[in-house]
Amino acid sequence: MKNCSWEKIEAFRSMSEFNRFVVWIERQLEKGECIEIIDDVDSTMPLQSRKLRCLSCDQIWLLSFPDPGYSKGSWGPL
Ligand SMILES: [Zn+2]
Repeated sequence: MKNCSWEKIEAFRSMSEFNRFVVWIERQLEKGECIEIIDDVDSTMPLQSRKLRCLSCDQIWLLSFPDPGYSKGSWGPL
């Protein structure tokens, strides 16, 4: 098992930083570095977070989306 190269993000500085991060996540998924855990959620509700299992450390990481004026969003292991 490889060492995990993911780093926690306590708070995204901006929506553009968050959007760049989502692109990075999609690349990790494409490369097979992680798999997405899809909860059985109501598809009419806007997504608030994503869960990804890192295949290097076998930990589940949570991406919380920014909510302007309320939360900056974050990324870290559960
Ligand atoms: Zn990891």
